Amino acid sequence: MTSPRLIPHFIGGAPRSIAQGRLAPVYDPATGGVSAQVDLATTALVDEAVAAATAAFPAWAATPPHLRARVMFRLRELIVREEDRLAALITSEHGKIVTDAKGELLRGLEVVEFACGIPQLLKGEFNESVGRSIDAVSIRQPLGVVAGITPFNFPAMVPMWMFPVALACGNSFILKPSERDPSLAVELALLLKEAGLPDGVFNVVHGDKEAVDALLDHPGVDAISFVGSTPIAEYIHQRGTANGKRVQALGGAKNHMVILPDADMEQAVDALMGAGYGSAGERCMAISVAVPVGQATADRLVEMLAPRVRALKVGPGSDASNDMGPLVTGVHRDKVRSYVDLGIEEGAELVVDGRDLRLQGYEEGFFLGGCLFDHVTPDMRIYKEEIFGPVLSVVRAGSFEEAIGLVDAHEYGNGTAIFTRDGRTAQDYLARVKVGMVGINVPIPVPMAFHSFGGWKRSLFGEHHMHGPEGVRFYTRLKTATMRWPTGPSTGADFLMPTQK
Ligand code: NAD
Repeated sequence: MTSPRLIPHFIGGAPRSIAQGRLAPVYDPATGGVSAQVDLATTALVDEAVAAATAAFPAWAATPPHLRARVMFRLRELIVREEDRLAALITSEHGKIVTDAKGELLRGLEVVEFACGIPQLLKGEFNESVGRSIDAVSIRQPLGVVAGITPFNFPAMVPMWMFPVALACGNSFILKPSERDPSLAVELALLLKEAGLPDGVFNVVHGDKEAVDALLDHPGVDAISFVGSTPIAEYIHQRGTANGKRVQALGGAKNHMVILPDADMEQAVDALMGAGYGSAGERCMAISVAVPVGQATADRLVEMLAPRVRALKVGPGSDASNDMGPLVTGVHRDKVRSYVDLGIEEGAELVVDGRDLRLQGYEEGFFLGGCLFDHVTPDMRIYKEEIFGPVLSVVRAGSFEEAIGLVDAHEYGNGTAIFTRDGRTAQDYLARVKVGMVGINVPIPVPMAFHSFGGWKRSLFGEHHMHGPEGVRFYTRLKTATMRWPTGPSTGADFLMPTQK
């Protein structure tokens, strides 16, 4: 028997592995087999990556922005060239349908395209005559070495929310991808190298808590971008900021979709199917709670949803005709299934039960059928906690006020959607709801790359959202200069606060 492929780190422009290091298995979720092993970084290896990034930083920061942008232009072309191969790789480790994997690549690519405009985005401000013969200028400069720690559910897109902007701003970058689907990070590193990025500017260290803690504690790391679950996001923010770093840490979600009685029900049901069950519910912007307003709306919604959920086509992600692939690991599939058991114990009505799905030829795969709960109430754990699987809960609300109250009372505030034909109510919802990203008749309102992505409440720790203008702010710091070029004799020392008369 041959041993599985080893996924290396990428440091200083070359793949790197540790002799007799700690290894973790990487699964093919469709078959349940181990497809590769990933080397888990030690603190010493993280030190090596930081040293490489630190050494590469000064020259990269001094490279004019339009030349840094050209690397992004070339990266864009290379990702387009490699799209099929990269999407197949995502599917083989994550499990999502291959066309969905292409969608994730495209959404990441849009951030690369945004970063191509970095010379314009980094333009500073100049003020002539802020005082007599005094001018002022504000410029934004890169931070230094920044790290990105990313989740399993978007192995291409989430790193691409971060590094194109960070690199284009002149930083060097260390990516610590999820150890569950780590291959794509190395592929991106190779493409960046091919695009002309100097060695050491982009590095990949694989690993678990040991590698993450080493990044959080390393004095040579200036900033941390994190995306993952809320408990870890909170931990990253606390430990990173305690160590004096700039930190943005995006956490988990429980996204509600409110359906008003005047909504187009066909559209609302289509939207719920895609947003609830697409990518097997493993999206931070998945809709996991439907809130129909009024009993008639709720009855109709459940009646229309149930047969659609039963008819979901579940199978390996390599077959683009499937609606939904497997979950990422057997452990995660079992956790999601245990939430379904819990919902029954808590008294919710399980309208569609996907727990016993068996696929011929894929008996060992990490599959779970779509599940639909009705009569879920806010005191239940299946409502309060993020399940992160193909489980949609219907929470019935008596009025619009009750619906918005539910959304606002929830600890998460990542995304939400409202389906209605009434513009005034939609506007009211947008103005009042305590959630970072809102969709109006749009179920998954992921902002485009030139806007910024981020939630509220316990879905984000830190001040900055990701990519777009907020990304440029996060990856740069402001410097403001006040300038006078003296002429004539000195007027002597002035001991008062400088003011202009
Ligand atoms: P996770 O929190 O388990 O892991 C995220 C990263 O943190 C990984 O790189 C992992 O190696 C690392 N990590 C895990 N445990 C750690 C620990 N104890 N100490 C230090 N580092 C640790 O998340 P996941 O399961 O990979 O991803 C799913 C989660 O990510 C969901 O909660 C989802 O909502 C969230 N997510 C949020 C967004 C967003 O934009 N808000 C986007 C995608 C995913």
